[in-house]
Order: sequence, then C-alpha cells, then structure tokens
Amino acid sequence: MGERILLVEDEEKLARMVEMELKYEGYRVEKAFDGRTGLEWARSGEFDLVLLDIMLPQLSGMEVLRRLRKESQLPVIMLTARDSVMDKVSGLDSGADDYITKPFAIEELLARIRAALRNHGGHDSQVLTAGELSMDIDRHRVTVRGQEVELTKKEFDLLCHLLENKGRVLTREALLDSVWGFDFVGETNSVDVYIRFLRSKIDEAFGIKLIHTVRGVGYVIKDE
Ligand code: CA
Repeated sequence: MGERILLVEDEEKLARMVEMELKYEGYRVEKAFDGRTGLEWARSGEFDLVLLDIMLPQLSGMEVLRRLRKESQLPVIMLTARDSVMDKVSGLDSGADDYITKPFAIEELLARIRAALRNHGGHDSQVLTAGELSMDIDRHRVTVRGQEVELTKKEFDLLCHLLENKGRVLTREALLDSVWGFDFVGETNSVDVYIRFLRSKIDEAFGIKLIHTVRGVGYVIKDE
C-alpha cells in the first residue's frame, strides 16, 4: 500500500469522489484537472500509476498518453467517458495498460489498479548475488562479471538454493531434500558431484572462491 496515484480528470466532482475512495484504500493521490498539468506530473517520476481521462482540456488524454509513452512505461489506466470501442482500441494501441468506462463501480476500478500495479511490478526480476556472481531467477541466467555461465537445470537449482541461503551451511541431506526432493532414490554423493560441477564452472573457471566445504557438515556459498 501507499502507492502514489496520479488522477487526471477534469470533472472535479468525480475526481474528488475517486480521490476519497483511493485514499480510503491507502493510496496516496494527486489530482490534475487538465492534460498539460497531468503530463508534466506524470513525467516527474513521483507516481506509480496514472488514471487518465480521455476528454481533457488543453491536451487530450490520448495525446498525454502518446507523449508519456515516448519516455516512460508508467502504468496508465484510461477513463473513457462512454462505452466507445474506438477510444478503447486507440487507448490500448497507444500503450494504455487498461481502460475503464464511466460510470464505473469503485470496486472495479480498485481491482484494475491492483492488477496494473501487480503486472508492472512483475517486470522487476528477482536477482540473487554472491561476490561477482549474479543469478536472475526469472530469466534463468547466471553471470560472473557479466559473463554468462551455462548451467544444467539441476546445477541451477542447487546454486539457487545455496544463494537463497547465502552464508548458511547446508547439509547434504538438506540439499538433497530441497533440490532433488524427498522421493529421491540414489546416492547421497549426488550433491558432491553437482557441487564439483558448479565449482568447475564457477570458482575454477573464474578464479574465485564462492562455494565452500564445511568438513563433516556440508556446503555454504559466501561473498568472497
Ligand atoms: Ca473529461
């Protein structure tokens, strides 16, 4: 909560009503009553989402969106005055994340705001690091000093688990359970084998020391 929403809407009564509801939900809200001010504020970097009316004085909502999209991927939900297919199509073509037709139920607007914020947040992929190594989980990509390291799925999963527990010593049994699963049938030395693969691809290949053996206990990954 606490995301900052810019509401660009010239119908002041509607704007006040929406502002009140959004604030009640815990959002911070600023109102702009014309397109020019709306564009200026949207560019300021101070907001997490824009609610943008289409029929606006000075600069239309469509024009605000077109100009904003040249420099920013800030989530924008268009407010269309009527159920006009043209408005929706051109709004989405111009890069709006969503649209809602007036009059709308506040619950529907809130649901669309949450969805737009969630989708936008999803672009930031989770990255784990140790020393000069970094793992981008969503992109399934591991690099050391920016150079990509090719890993098999099992090697990736093992490294991911070690990184998620950076600084903590994990026993072979714990690693087997988490990475291979409880129903694993085979040698417990699989962990040692895969640790060896990782060391050869990471520590030895780049002359660094990230993966450490704790004798009689297990393994730990540490920042160098
Ligand atoms: Ca209007």
